[in-house]
Amino acid sequence: MKSFEEYVAAAEQAHGHMCAGQILGLRMAIYGLNLLGIADPTGGDRKRLVTFVEIDRCATDAIGVVTGCRLGKRALKFRDFGKVAATFCDLRDGRSLRVVAKESSKQRARELYTDIADKNQQQMHAYRTMADQELFDHQWVRVVVGPEDLPGFKSERAECAQCGEGINFKREIVVQRKVLCRACAGERYYEVL
Ligand SMILES: [Zn+2]
Ligand SMILES: [Zn+2]
Repeated sequence: MKSFEEYVAAAEQAHGHMCAGQILGLRMAIYGLNLLGIADPTGGDRKRLVTFVEIDRCATDAIGVVTGCRLGKRALKFRDFGKVAATFCDLRDGRSLRVVAKESSKQRARELYTDIADKNQQQMHAYRTMADQELFDHQWVRVVVGPEDLPGFKSERAECAQCGEGINFKREIVVQRKVLCRACAGERYYEVL
């Protein structure tokens, strides 16, 4: 693993600015990987790791920087639960660890750095120095990561019987013996104008 300051520099570059959320994300990912015993996430352990993130905020980008897991590589999975939490799945050893930021960490940051007026600065300082146990809760969990969810999975493309669009990675749904994409099956998030 790189030094914390190296991660800070890399995260700032990837994200466009430095902020408390990113410090928290870096700490969260380093904590998770340490507990899993994954020491070289972007090198030798590159193929060992899949990460689920539960929020699309600053912390998420920082988690990507440490883990090397990216959406476009299928190693980063987004579940929009609105929580500052992530689950690190070690594919080699079949172990997964979910880490969540404690609700109390913001309050603790305020208490620790009452002299810093700027909230972001206050939290940045606190999130650098607070102990892992003060920042995070963790739990060992089971995550089923199917072959169709893994990087490198090859499958036949399906074609939606309704809209005709191609569907990869077994994401089609069979409704009354018709093969449908998720949009046509009722999960559409957009309305065609
Ligand atoms: Zn940010
Ligand atoms: Zn369709």
